[in-house]
Amino acid sequence: MESGCIFCKILAGQAEASMVYRDAQVSAFMDIQPVNPGHVLVVPNTHAEDLAALDTATGRRIFEIAQQIAAAIYRSDLRSEGINLFLADGEAAGQDVFHIHMHIVPRFDEDGFGLKFGPDYANLPARAELDLAAGLLRAQLGT
Ligand code: 5GP
Ligand code: ZN
Repeated sequence: MESGCIFCKILAGQAEASMVYRDAQVSAFMDIQPVNPGHVLVVPNTHAEDLAALDTATGRRIFEIAQQIAAAIYRSDLRSEGINLFLADGEAAGQDVFHIHMHIVPRFDEDGFGLKFGPDYANLPARAELDLAAGLLRAQLGT
């Protein structure tokens, strides 16, 4: 447990939360400030600040449970015409709580939520630029 971490406090029963799911590896509870009703967070039970600190087995479990909760949302009476899975890794990506978590956000037409794109988004990069980025990543992956 990381002192000062609100999600560790919730997992330890020292802070209130509306729990949805719990197993040995991960837990899921309702977001306190939902984008839409039914917005759930899936978190590792052991504190991990970000993707780099998260072991891959727990990462797999987070996705598996997120997928199951998404299916449960669709089956439920919560309004959901679509769902976004969203994970912010790092402050620049919008991470506010540094105990990594996957958002499961029910979506519907005109709910007012969306991603904002930068001014250059409409200008597609040249193939050479995409190939360059792909090469940089292949070099790191060894592929
Ligand atoms: P982030 O911006 O880090 O991806 O998302 C953090 C999320 O945690 C936000 O959606 C925020 O509403 C939620 N959150 C922050 N504090 C609490 C809390 O004390 N309890 C719960 N259930 N959610 C919280
Ligand atoms: Zn924590």
